[in-house]
Amino acid sequence: MDVMSTIESQDFSNLRIDLHSHTKFSDGSLTPQELIERATNFQIDVLAITDHDTVSALDIANNYISEKKYALNLINGIEISTAWQGFEIHIVGLNIDRTHPALLSLIESQQVARESRAITMGEKLAKCGFDGIYEKAKELANGGSLTRAHFAKVLLQQGSISKMQAAFDKYIGKGKRAYVKPNWCSIKEAIDAIHQAGGTAVMAHPVRYDLSTKWLRRLVIQFKEEGGDGLEIVLPQMSNDQRQLMLNFCLEYDLHASMGSDFHHPNKWSDLGRNLRMPEKALPIWSLWPEKLRSEMLTR
Ligand code: AMP
Ligand code: MN
Ligand code: MN
Ligand code: MN
Repeated sequence: MDVMSTIESQDFSNLRIDLHSHTKFSDGSLTPQELIERATNFQIDVLAITDHDTVSALDIANNYISEKKYALNLINGIEISTAWQGFEIHIVGLNIDRTHPALLSLIESQQVARESRAITMGEKLAKCGFDGIYEKAKELANGGSLTRAHFAKVLLQQGSISKMQAAFDKYIGKGKRAYVKPNWCSIKEAIDAIHQAGGTAVMAHPVRYDLSTKWLRRLVIQFKEEGGDGLEIVLPQMSNDQRQLMLNFCLEYDLHASMGSDFHHPNKWSDLGRNLRMPEKALPIWSLWPEKLRSEMLTR
């Protein structure tokens, strides 16, 4: 068989694929081992771990899979925070070389940005009447990426708010009293680092940025111009209109499609690999991956 007919004969539609998930190394609640156990129990075939601005979970997860001789295919990933027109846009890198110097150097500067944002956020929260939150959030993050979710959890645990979302709505969400404009890299810098590390660059959850269709289109156009490979168009809790719009963007701007649950912790509405189905008209992101990896995905 020639290469084209090999690719065409490959059928990925029966695989359970989830290309967006988090561990304790950022704001997920499971250890890498627990996440792998959950994915295996849910009979997931292909899982990407995509922690915020860190690759620390990947070695542990890969070693655990080998040790247990699980058939799960792990895709090495990352979710990089970027700044665009005052918005925070997340770029997922898939099938990255987690040791590549360009990627590691970007991670380092992102971690510096996280730390200084966290300190300022702590100061602003103190002015709102909550002392010592930075220290507690840092302790909770336990060496992993320090995120706003950690701040929200500390406020919840000490009874300052009644649910996590309230922390964002009242204090640390964009434009609120303790919001700090972060010093993230640009979209282009994230895409370039991912590409240098041999990965594919996907815009995470485009429907969640609270952008009008006009602005979302601008964002997608720039992402494509700067070398972006795909949009995450299949995620839990999307309306049919949103689904259609995302698919249209992919077709119109020649972008591939990715899918993922953005799993952080077990909850009622979504779980690892649940309700994710690639639309027939979309070009899946894995069609850009090396043939060797694609065959591994099919042979598990
Ligand atoms: P960070 O990357 O540090 O800004 O943290 C953002 C993370 O907080 C997201 O990845 C979500 O997991 C979590 N989060 C929960 N609720 C919200 C919200 N309303 N707005 C932004 N982030 C939220
Ligand atoms: Mn998160
Ligand atoms: Mn995200
Ligand atoms: Mn995420």
